[in-house]
Amino acid sequence: MPAPNYRGLSHPYLEAKLPTLDHADGMGQFVRAGCARCKTIHLYRPADIKTVVGGDMHVFRLREKLRCEQCGKRDEMVVEFKTFLGNEMVGLVIRELVEIRTVKKPIWREKRL
Ligand SMILES: [Zn+2]
Repeated sequence: MPAPNYRGLSHPYLEAKLPTLDHADGMGQFVRAGCARCKTIHLYRPADIKTVVGGDMHVFRLREKLRCEQCGKRDEMVVEFKTFLGNEMVGLVIRELVEIRTVKKPIWREKRL
């Protein structure tokens, strides 16, 4: 795993070698995402995250896509793929995607007649 401050903006050949959501899903890993500001950490299934962000991507692109649910910021997110052993899986709490709702939001403007 590269250094935590690495943003994954390197040569495409090197970037293609970084682990992606599909790799993590195939390895039985979880996505561990947390906000350094709010000190909240959640575990997600990679397939759920892939549905939410709209495609397969490596772990450093995920930092830019995920947003903290408490403070709404993206810049403090820490995202990694985490492997758990069999005995660690007992009682593990993960966030499961239930549904994606599309919100209908009216946009108004003033118009002079
Ligand atoms: Zn936060």
